[in-house]
Amino acid sequence: MPLLQFTPNGIYCEAGDFYIDPVRAVQRAVITHGHSDHARSGHASYFAHRDSEPVLKTRLGKNISLRTEKYGVPVTINGVTISLHPAGHIIGSSQVRVDYQGEVWVAAGDYKLENDRVCQPFETVRCNTFITEATFALPIYRWPDQDLVFAEINRWWKQNQSEGKTSVLNAYSLGKAQRILHHLDYSTGPVFCHPSVETMNQSLREFGIPVPKVNLLDADVRPEELRRGLVITPVSGKGSPFMTQFEPYSVAFASGWMAVSKRRNWQAFDRGFILSDHADWPALNKAVIDSRADKIIVTHGTEGIFSRWLREQGFDAEDA
Ligand SMILES: [Zn+2]
Ligand SMILES: [Zn+2]
Repeated sequence: MPLLQFTPNGIYCEAGDFYIDPVRAVQRAVITHGHSDHARSGHASYFAHRDSEPVLKTRLGKNISLRTEKYGVPVTINGVTISLHPAGHIIGSSQVRVDYQGEVWVAAGDYKLENDRVCQPFETVRCNTFITEATFALPIYRWPDQDLVFAEINRWWKQNQSEGKTSVLNAYSLGKAQRILHHLDYSTGPVFCHPSVETMNQSLREFGIPVPKVNLLDADVRPEELRRGLVITPVSGKGSPFMTQFEPYSVAFASGWMAVSKRRNWQAFDRGFILSDHADWPALNKAVIDSRADKIIVTHGTEGIFSRWLREQGFDAEDA
């Protein structure tokens, strides 16, 4: 029996009787990070990195049974030793190292190798079997250096301001939004966050995780302030009723998907900034090599293509 198995409930460790990022309600859930496709409600108990606590409690409720740990601290569950290691994806994101009788598996969850200077950077963890994500596992995905992207965003904002337009930047409320907030040029003008973004910011701040202070986007904001300002909001493009309050505006989206020029919903945005919290093609390959694993299991994205590529490179690789 493999140490970790892929079951309809999620990744299961039979020896330790726990799941990693389970998709259905289970007794014992180890959660890699707070994004909703990984951290679901209904589990009897949760284990996660301590910086995931504000996110999990905001999203899943204050009363969940949650145990947290720092990175690298071994915890034994039914004789199986697990420890969390930085995945560099968002605040609190973790790779899960599972060690049973000397056999080591790492489930990396979502990860990126570039240091975003917000969350702790990805740590290479050697293992026998490495479970990698494959969200952007195609050779076309190669991210520009983030400093270039942030310079572009700040230039775009100044340009809009000089034209009397509100800058509306779409970004996911957990992870991307905070990463952008850490890299804005606040000398340009005021920054406003949609309530769903600001709720997340505030729960992180209350927990002691630094997030720059910004303005809440509410009915009191004056139009002339908006025109100088930059608004961060979850995804809403041109034509959505929410956007009328910002007219005239320029609306942009910050995402790895912006690297694909032909996506259908692109027309809803004036600008796209290529900014991803996932590893790009070179980084996925590097992570696989650095793991020194004998076996690679690919999941969460374009797995078929990536696992075949890895086999062609001589790896023992398969899809989950
Ligand atoms: Zn994620
Ligand atoms: Zn994910």
